[in-house]
Amino acid sequence: LTQLYAPLNFLGFIYREIKNSLSDMERMFGILDQHQEIEDTPQSVPLDTRDAEIRFDHVGFAYEPERQILHDVNFTIAAGETVAVVGTSGAGKSTLARLLFRFYDVTSGRITINGRDIREYTQLSLRQHIGIVPQDTVLFNNSIYYNIAYGRPDATREEVLEAARAASIHEFVMSLPEGYDTQVGERGLKLSGGEKQRVAIARTILKNPPILVLDEATSALDTRTERAIQDELYKITKGRSTMIIAHRLSTIVEADRVLVMDQGRVVEQGSHVRLLQANGVYARMWAMQFAATDEGTDV
Ligand code: ADP
Ligand code: MG
Repeated sequence: LTQLYAPLNFLGFIYREIKNSLSDMERMFGILDQHQEIEDTPQSVPLDTRDAEIRFDHVGFAYEPERQILHDVNFTIAAGETVAVVGTSGAGKSTLARLLFRFYDVTSGRITINGRDIREYTQLSLRQHIGIVPQDTVLFNNSIYYNIAYGRPDATREEVLEAARAASIHEFVMSLPEGYDTQVGERGLKLSGGEKQRVAIARTILKNPPILVLDEATSALDTRTERAIQDELYKITKGRSTMIIAHRLSTIVEADRVLVMDQGRVVEQGSHVRLLQANGVYARMWAMQFAATDEGTDV
C-alpha cells in the first residue's frame, strides 16, 4: 500500500505546489475552468461596483478537514483602503487571498463585499473586480503585447501601450528588436523577475480592478528594480481596496492598517504606529527585523 501511496502523495504535492504558488491565479483559472469546483446558482447576482468594502467575518478555513488553517478571522478593508498583511511563513496570508478570489470557499463564517456574501455573486463578476499581482508571474508563451492585453482583451492598442508606460515597461519593450511582438515565456525571451512583474503590473493597470491583491516578494529583485516596482505598485493602489501581503518596510508604514497573522489567526491589527506603541507581537517582529537587516526586507 505504501508503494501505491508514495506516488499519489507526490502528485498531491505537485498539485499543492502549483496551487500554492498562486503564481498566476487568473491564468490558472482559465486553465481549470473546465472543472470548476465552485459554481454559480440561479440566484447569483453580478458584482458591480468601484467602491468595494471587503469584510472577513468570523472566517474559518481548512484545506483538509483534519487541519484547521484559519481561525475566526475578522477584518475589514474599507473602500479605497490599503491593508498590509504580515506574519511568518505559513501563517495563512496567501490563504486569505485565495479565499477572496474564491479559489476555495470558507469553511465557516463569510466574506462579504459591500455587505453581500461573495458566494452570492457570479464568479466571473467577482473575479473581474479583483486584480492580482503575484509574487512570481508566469508569462504565456506568446508576445509581450498578448501578455499585457490579457488584462482586458478588448483594450485598444493605445490603452495597452499606456498601461505599459504606467508600469515603466514600455521603454524596455521598445528597445527590443521586435518590440511588443517579442515572444516571451519558456520558449521566448527570458525576462528578469522585475520585468515579468512589470508585465503583471501593466496587465493589472489595464484591467483596472476596484480590488487589488499584491503579493510582494523581494528576494528575486535587486534594490534598484525593487524601488522602481514598489513605486509602480504604490501608484496603482490609489483609490482601490487593496490587500498587500507585505514584505517591505515602506509598504507597511504607508498602509492604512496592518494585520498581523500568526498560525491562522489575526493576532493584532492597527496602524504601524499604534502597533509599535502596543508593544506586542508586531513590535517584537519589528525589532527582530531591524536587528537582522537594515531595511526590513521580509517581515
Ligand atoms: P503564508 O502565505 O502566510 O505563508 P499560506 O496561506 O500559504 O501561508 O498557508 C497557510 C497554511 O496552509 C500552511 O500551513 C500551509 O502549509 C497550508 N496550506 C496551504 N495550501 C494548502 C493546500 N493546498 N493543502 C493543504 N494545506 C495547505
Ligand atoms: Mg504566502
